Formats: sequence, structure tokens, C-alpha cells
Amino acid sequence: MSKKQGSLALHWKILIGMLLGIVVGFLLKPNMLIGSMWKSEAYNGVHFVNDWIYPLGKIFVNLLKLIAVPLIIASLTKGIADLKDISKLSKIGGRTIAVYLVTTVLAVSLGLLVVNIVQPGTGLPDEQIEQLSQKNIEKSATKIEAGAKQSKSGPLKFLVDMVPSNIFAAASNNGNMLQVIVFVLFLGICLLLIPQEKAKPLHDFFDSLNEVILKMVDIIMLLSPYAVFALLCNLTVSTDPAIFGILLKYALCVVLGLSLMVLIYLSAIRIYTGRSSIEFLKAISPAQLLAFSTSSSAATLPVTMERVEEHVGVEKEVTSFVCPIGATINMDGTSLYQAVAAVFICQVIGFDLTLADQLTIVITATMASIGSAAVPGAGMVMLVIVLDTLGIPAEQLAFGIALIFAVDRPLDMCRTVINVTGDATVATLVGQSVGKLNAPKIKNWDDHYTAE
Ligand code: ASP
Repeated sequence: MSKKQGSLALHWKILIGMLLGIVVGFLLKPNMLIGSMWKSEAYNGVHFVNDWIYPLGKIFVNLLKLIAVPLIIASLTKGIADLKDISKLSKIGGRTIAVYLVTTVLAVSLGLLVVNIVQPGTGLPDEQIEQLSQKNIEKSATKIEAGAKQSKSGPLKFLVDMVPSNIFAAASNNGNMLQVIVFVLFLGICLLLIPQEKAKPLHDFFDSLNEVILKMVDIIMLLSPYAVFALLCNLTVSTDPAIFGILLKYALCVVLGLSLMVLIYLSAIRIYTGRSSIEFLKAISPAQLLAFSTSSSAATLPVTMERVEEHVGVEKEVTSFVCPIGATINMDGTSLYQAVAAVFICQVIGFDLTLADQLTIVITATMASIGSAAVPGAGMVMLVIVLDTLGIPAEQLAFGIALIFAVDRPLDMCRTVINVTGDATVATLVGQSVGKLNAPKIKNWDDHYTAE
């Protein structure tokens, strides 16, 4: 596809879509300019957006989710088969897991540092806190229930859960991404172990399937500016800007920690690969913008893989392995948020944290972020486990979760951006370390998406 003269770059189109979505959503609020035109309570701007605008956003997210599992199957099988030798796989695998662990522990420690310095939970007005928590206590109950269920399972349950008993059942649920990855790893390794001429037909099949799916990503991305408009319009029309209120300092702590994490990624890219941070950000920005709009690293995965491979220049052998695994287990934004939220809640309820408690948070938030699903709101479910391990009584735990519930969605949008940026960064670093980082295939990153 060639670039049309005069057409606007994709990242600008997405940004304009997001801004317009926020503005239109705001104007459609029941008390605002357009929203006040609906006189009835039974049907207002919120319903209008839900009926006529939001469906486009939902269709877009569904399309992205639709291709996630086939993409992992095709690209990971081909990626492993292309390695030609299992020792290379264990080298890439070992480095990937090691770097993922290091970045996650770093993220949690950064979160702890920020929240302990800023102390957002001290000196807040008791009455307002009580009111806010009471308001959301029912809505947050499902999160607490889900978290409690998870924390009751045995220590090796996560290993058992990783191995599917039926690949079709696993592949039919995007929440089982890790199971699909385990199956595909097994398949790819066995493809390497059989004679080449026998492996070739399957290898060619997955190669071709992979190309087709990447083309699907291109086509779906043409919809992205309109889809983010719909997603943000829906979010704005149904969100009360007053939610931040007394939680503003806490929210800013999370955002500050996340921003510092981006600086760490960019420095790592600059120092280890010599690449320009701005170029790197430009290359992956559509994935970041989508992560922000969808709050789901799983839905963003096809775009993350495509950007890292074609626009950053990491070879398929690495991206096909590092990105899907990252989307499921590497959640630096989520782990940082969990650390800040846990300490914030402890500060509010007056639960003193010792140094050992803070170390417990490093370990549990790291594990909890690995276990968090790559979907909206999952980080909060796993936060329940972090709080539980600290020994916070059930009643105070429920109070704390309900308290931060109101601002969870905007923070989820921000932490998902960091989750995705972390995956792209680690893929680039691992690519460099195994000699599989090349010049980007697509220099002008708009060329790719501009229809002829
Ligand atoms: N929404 C996040 C993601 O998909 C997970 C979370 O922190 O809730 O990466």
C-alpha cells in the first residue's frame, strides 16, 4: 500500500478520534448542551450513545479479539519452527522470562517508592471516604468475590491451569490465552523435532495463515479512529468527572509511577539498542492508543505484535514468542498500580506496614500481575489477593476496594498502556540480545495503513 499524498497520519487520526469522542461524550451528558435536549429520564444522551455510537467500538474490540487466538497459533508456531533449533528457543525463552520478572519487580518497587513518599492516603476527610466507599460497596463485591476465589486455590494451581485438556475448548475462550500458548509451544517444538520435509507443509500453512491475519490487522486498523471515538464517547458520557475528588492524589501517584516506568523503558531502549526513544514511541504509539481506549492488552495484542515486528524491526521468531507471553504474564502497569493501591488503602484504614509487609507487596503484586487476565478491570481482582496476604480484615478490605473502585477505569486505561509498552520494550531488548533486531521493515509508519 502506498501513502496517499496529503492524508493525515494514523496516530493523528486516532488522537483526533479520541479527543472528539471525549468532547461529544461530554456534550451528550444529561445536563450538557446536546444531552439536555432529551427531556425524559428514560431515554437520554447516555442511552443514545449506548444504542447508536458504542456498538462501533464494541465491533472493533471484537474484531481484534477475534484474530488474537489464530494470530498466536499461526505466528508462534511459525516463529518456533523458523528458529530451526531448540537451544535458540530456550535462550530466547530464558531471557524473556528473566527480563519480564525484572521489569515487574522494578515497577512494583517504583510504585512503592512513589506512594510512600507522597502518602496520598493520609489526612483524608473520614466522612467523604466513608460516603464514597458506601456508594460503591455493592458494585465492587463481584471483584472481591472473584479475588477471594483465586486466593483460595493451591500454590501450584496456576501451573495446572496453564495446561489445557482440550485445545478447542482452550482456543474458544480468549481468557485462556496462556493455555493456547502452552499448546502451541509444544506443537512448535515437535515441528522442529520431525524431519524437515515432513514439517514443511504445516510450516508453510502457518506462514500463509500468519500473513493473512496480519493483513486482517491492517484492515481492522482502518476502523481505529472511528472506533476509539465510539469507545471514549461512551466512557465520557457515562463517567462523572467528580469521581476523582478526594482520590485525585492517589490517582496522580499511579500516573506518576506509570510515567516514570515509561522513562525507564525508553532509557533501556536507548542504552541497550542505541535507538531513538521518540522513534520507538512513534512506532508503537497506535498500540498504546488502543490499549488506552480498550483497557485490554489482549485485545491490543495483534496490533502490538504487528508494530514491534514491522515498525520496530524485531524478527518474527522473537515477537511471536515474547509479545503473546507478555500480554498474558507481563503487566508492569498493573503491578505498579497494585502496589500503590495496596499501600494507599493501608494508609486510609490506618494499617501500619512494616518493611517486611512492603516486601510481601513486592512478591505478591509481582505474582498477582502475572495472574491478572489481560482484560479490563482484572488488576483490581488480583489486588484483593495482595491485600488478603497482608492480613487486612475482610471488612476493611471490602471498604478499601469500594473506595478506589470509582477511579479504577481511568487508571486501568493508563496501566494497560504501560503493560503494552512493557511488552514492546522487552521484545525489542530480547530481539537485540539475540541478534534479531533489524532496521524497521516499514519506515514511514503511515504507509502501512493508508488504503490505495
Ligand atoms: N486491563 C489490564 C490489561 O489488560 C489489566 C488490569 O490491570 O486490569 O492489561
